[in-house]
Amino acid sequence: MTAKPVRVRFAPSPTGHLHLGGARTALYNYLLAKKTGGKFILRIEDTDQKRYVEGAEQEIIDGLRWLGITYDEGPDIGGPFGPYRQTERREIYQTHAKSLVDKGAAYPCFCSAERLEKVRQEQQKRKETPHYDGICRNIAPEEAARRIAAGEKHVIRLRMPQEGTTTAHDHIRGDITVDNKNFDDAILVKTDGLPTYHFAAMVDDHEMQITHVFRGVEWLSTFPLHVNMVRAFGWEEPVWIHLSIFLKPTGKGKMSKREATDALKDGHSIFVKDLKDLGFIPEGVNNWYALMGWGVAEDEVMALDQMAQRFSIDHLTPSPAAINFQKLDHFNGTHIRLLPTAELARRLKPYFRADGLAVDDDTLLKITPLIRERLVTLDDCLAFGAFFFKETVQPTREDLIAKDLDAAQSAAIARRAYQILEAQPDISHARSEAPMRAYVEETGLSPNQVFGIIRVAVTGQKVSPPLFESMEVIGREKVLERLKKAAEILEN
Ligand code: GLU
Repeated sequence: MTAKPVRVRFAPSPTGHLHLGGARTALYNYLLAKKTGGKFILRIEDTDQKRYVEGAEQEIIDGLRWLGITYDEGPDIGGPFGPYRQTERREIYQTHAKSLVDKGAAYPCFCSAERLEKVRQEQQKRKETPHYDGICRNIAPEEAARRIAAGEKHVIRLRMPQEGTTTAHDHIRGDITVDNKNFDDAILVKTDGLPTYHFAAMVDDHEMQITHVFRGVEWLSTFPLHVNMVRAFGWEEPVWIHLSIFLKPTGKGKMSKREATDALKDGHSIFVKDLKDLGFIPEGVNNWYALMGWGVAEDEVMALDQMAQRFSIDHLTPSPAAINFQKLDHFNGTHIRLLPTAELARRLKPYFRADGLAVDDDTLLKITPLIRERLVTLDDCLAFGAFFFKETVQPTREDLIAKDLDAAQSAAIARRAYQILEAQPDISHARSEAPMRAYVEETGLSPNQVFGIIRVAVTGQKVSPPLFESMEVIGREKVLERLKKAAEILEN
């Protein structure tokens, strides 16, 4: 294995949203670079102009930034091995294609699309697997050069081995051996002069001195081809790791578009941007998908730096993992609770703001520890804490009536609570809890019944953060006013 400094790359095509699979590939790259003191590169593979999606590159960059998966070199920050967009590297591919042609490892092919289609149909008729028949393999170099100079349209094909076998080694899957008979002479450069994905990726990995290639298992079928390409150049191969796909929650097959939409309705998603919008935090999201395929203890709670310390390519598993959104909730809530109060408050603020609430930092800092325990996502703060920023609350008569009591009895409790609290010099948690608990004893009712009425009266809702702490934040004047109003609602 190589003793060179680790250089790894995430090489997405800008063809859609950044999803979990891509994010995990990026993360593993990042972790290996961090662990070994290597470099992590973002490379945009945009040679397939038909599939190009406007804005996709920016979404990838924004998504990685949000996740905290920072790279050392990339299209937006530059670096010593740039450019980092393949469409800006045309000459590099041309030069390398020419060097292969010059040494006879590749050749120009002048076959028209019509001819290839005819060959294909004839092969099908003969029940053969369609393949390039290699007619241009034998064109003399001088003749080929003359036709190219005359402007004849052509592609560049790799002269693939036709006998024997090719063995490619994947670090987590072992050796993969294929019969060379099965290979086609792969196209390296298309008629428009742009490289194919296969060629561009191999050239770039070499040029950028990539030591480890993490990529999706969908590239496994073309892996032996890639290895042949690298070998045709005589280059050193990187360590190859093909990561498994994620399966849908049932574990059967990939998530479909429709299932992805259903997940979204349920407050979950496989797209990074959605997860952010849904109120998940990067710490929770990273921890969740990092462990899918990692192969170590399943529920370990880790921040990025802890993951980097623990990461090893030897632990990665080739078996596909099923997406489990309950685990996402679990990790997210756990990481929310690990955030320092001021940091969590800073992240909650925009959610309160977006709801039109006038947030003051003082109250925000006081309520953050009160609601923290209940948050699964950041936007849950509205359900548990919006009332803190409202001048008035609107409890319903129905909610104010405690279980097994009637309106008059509930009103009497609200009135008595008013008297007890009014008699206290302040409404601090320390002052109000003891007399209120004594009152519960006196009534012979359950704390749930009595405190339930008070909770609905002062917060306007049946579920809230701890009552006495909440009342302290709301303040004496408002608490008393709300208890009075509740009694009136119940008496009417
Ligand atoms: N551009 C390829 C993709 O988006 C990347 C494959 C690779 O990492 O080599 O799937």
